Amino acid sequence: MSVQSEGVLRRNFCLCCVGVMTLAASGVSLSPRQVFAKAKGIVDNMRDAAAEAEIVTHKLRGGLAVLEGSGGNILVSSGADGTLLVDAGITASQPHIRQSLADLGAGPIRQLINTHWHFDHADGNEWIASDGARIIAQEKTLVHLKAAQRVEDWDFDFPPAPPKALPSETFASSHEISANGDTLKLDYYAGGAHTDSDILVLFERSNVLHVGDTYWNGIYPFIDYSTGGSIDGTISALEKNLGLAERDTIIIPGHGAPVSNVVEMQAFHDMLVAIRDNVASLKAKGLSLAETQAQKPTKVFDEKWGQFVIGPDFFTKLVYEGV
Ligand SMILES: [Zn+2]
Repeated sequence: MSVQSEGVLRRNFCLCCVGVMTLAASGVSLSPRQVFAKAKGIVDNMRDAAAEAEIVTHKLRGGLAVLEGSGGNILVSSGADGTLLVDAGITASQPHIRQSLADLGAGPIRQLINTHWHFDHADGNEWIASDGARIIAQEKTLVHLKAAQRVEDWDFDFPPAPPKALPSETFASSHEISANGDTLKLDYYAGGAHTDSDILVLFERSNVLHVGDTYWNGIYPFIDYSTGGSIDGTISALEKNLGLAERDTIIIPGHGAPVSNVVEMQAFHDMLVAIRDNVASLKAKGLSLAETQAQKPTKVFDEKWGQFVIGPDFFTKLVYEGV
């Protein structure tokens, strides 16, 4: 297991955030071609950063562990049935992920579950499938990976994923599989959450719940309206998560500190509801986005939640879009 500073981890946090930060920081308007060139640079930067990043391993109960440092948090189940991963991280991290799995004594990867289609969760699909794993996802993850996608708030156009990277098994609303003595319940957030393709994965015996990007622990989240996400859908997803979680459930967020619990997730939910209500009442009075941002509707939460790359103004924009 290798350890690194929080600063290094944070730089490798998430493609979406790096993109937003870089474009926002540029402060200039770019032609579509320039935007594409800049965005392409961000992907390359992200891949380069992931190639360098060490992976931090957090061991949990029941033969489970979380790998932190390659895009979204990756949950690992290893045992007699080989290895199952929830999310694939970024391709450039492959050597480091392999090393972390070897350090855990994990066998060949047999199964991979994608929590949703985003790059920082599904980019590693191709190498993991090439190792012989089957890939399981909600059917809209397949739809999004199969075709070119534009994510407006990242200012980024994704090409279709290579055929090998596509999920080999999909489901509409729920699915159950077993691995290493545990039963895994996969459940779709109907109506859309962070995207329209998100699922949760509950390891019943271990009582460990991976909730993908419906939950960002300790930081403002990204919400992808371009592929069916919304603030209200995200809040509904959290209510579903809270209904499933018990006091001792280990909760794995898509981003942020990777080992969490129901108390922290409740605080994230309550923060989203309060900011949604603040922004909705300002928008209902006829305020523009800029006027709403000037009213600082996130202010009381910024010290705790706004210290990362989705800053107060950008998060206000993401909420304003959906109310
Ligand atoms: Zn995401």
